[in-house]
Amino acid sequence: MTAVATNVPARDDVPRSDPGLVIVGTGMAGLALARGVRARDGARPITLITADSGDEYVKPLLSSAVTKGQSVVDLRLRRAPDVAEALDARLRIHTRIDAIDPAARCLHLGAERLPYSQLVLATGATPYCPVATPPEAVDRVFQINDLDDYRRFRAALDGVGRSARIAIVGAGLVGCEYANDLQAGGYRVTLIAPEATPLARLLPARLGEALAAAFARAGIATRFSRQLVALDAAGGSVALRLDDGERSEFDFVLMATGLRPRTGLAEAAGLAVSPAGILTDRRLATSVPAIYALGDVACVGGLDDPARGVSAMYVQPLQASAKALAASLTGTPTEVAYGAWPVVVKTPLLPVVALAPQESPARWRFEGEGEDLAAIAENAASDLVGFALTGRCVRRKVELARAAPALLG
Ligand SMILES: Cc1cc2nc3c(=O)[nH]c(=O)nc-3n(C[C@H](O)[C@H](O)[C@H](O)COP(=O)(O)OP(=O)(O)OC[C@H]3O[C@@H](n4cnc5c(N)ncnc54)[C@H](O)[C@@H]3O)c2cc1C
Repeated sequence: MTAVATNVPARDDVPRSDPGLVIVGTGMAGLALARGVRARDGARPITLITADSGDEYVKPLLSSAVTKGQSVVDLRLRRAPDVAEALDARLRIHTRIDAIDPAARCLHLGAERLPYSQLVLATGATPYCPVATPPEAVDRVFQINDLDDYRRFRAALDGVGRSARIAIVGAGLVGCEYANDLQAGGYRVTLIAPEATPLARLLPARLGEALAAAFARAGIATRFSRQLVALDAAGGSVALRLDDGERSEFDFVLMATGLRPRTGLAEAAGLAVSPAGILTDRRLATSVPAIYALGDVACVGGLDDPARGVSAMYVQPLQASAKALAASLTGTPTEVAYGAWPVVVKTPLLPVVALAPQESPARWRFEGEGEDLAAIAENAASDLVGFALTGRCVRRKVELARAAPALLG
């Protein structure tokens, strides 16, 4: 369904013949780009299209909102009409693009054809779920990747007591942050993951064990080295079956089992894609003229060299991309560069900061004691290529980041 919820006309002095810039996606990437273009060009017609509500929010805050007592209203920075007005842009909400026609330079939205001069795909990534959810359990199984998802999850939580049993499947950044947040909110949390330790892609095992110990001390039940095999409705709860035969019932399940870039539209239109995202060059241009991509959906630099493309899925790189692309789209061709950006994991039970090495390090060197640990990843020449910090050692973030190599220099 196509709904024009907000339609703030572009300025009257702009010739109507130029369909202007169309940005698909109003997540942090799409909006950062729109702001950047508008700051550099007050006249360019900009149309934003989104499948969701179009309300502006900061996605990373979703996984620390229970502890802070923030409601969905608190998390919403601006409602869609205010976003459109601030950007002097057209914003179409709850509107899904069905197809891109690069030859005609237009988008298909149902029967409608929407022309573009330049098209930017900022369509993000979609949560991946390793097992099927039976229809009877869908109102008890959640994946949170936008404000609308969070609204549904909070409504479900608000309908039960604080003693609700919640299983979180997946112990990456999102799973660990929600485990900490929901435990601090008073819920009974069980964290389940196939890896032996949490944050396995960011932390060497010794630091992961420190985080697991902090979780256990706080009362979070953990099931590491366990695969989820099946998920069934069980009366008023959900039953999870693990690969060791354990079967447990929960009031809710939060799947935090990763994201896949939404490349379908691009692939169907003939753009070069890979499992890592829509391939772009360093100017965020795709393989098809006048079409660009950024944010979680993009694999930046992958068009030049698929082996070296970066699919970052973090805020800092999308902000750098938005800045560079805004300059390119307003007449100053600019390549994006990513510095060394450490990830700050929101687990107050044990603070974590990590800059994952891009390739397997020759060794990890450990400093500190107890849960205050620094792990320095080194290559064969003893250069620092990444690091991981827990507890009081997170203070070393800036010093170590300065010594680390840029991800996309
Ligand atoms: C809980 C959580 C915590 C996080 N914490 C951190 C953190 O601490 N630090 C950090 O750096 N990163 C964090 N991240 C990651 C970061 O938030 C994301 O990398 C970033 O928000 C992605 O923004 P995006 O605009 O690329 O994608 P999205 O926010 O996913 O936006 C995609 C947009 O595309 C639209 N769309 C998709 N398909 C279509 C279609 N066919 N037609 C029309 N519109 C479409 C959607 O409706 C949406 O508007 C976190 C992520 C989550 C889920």
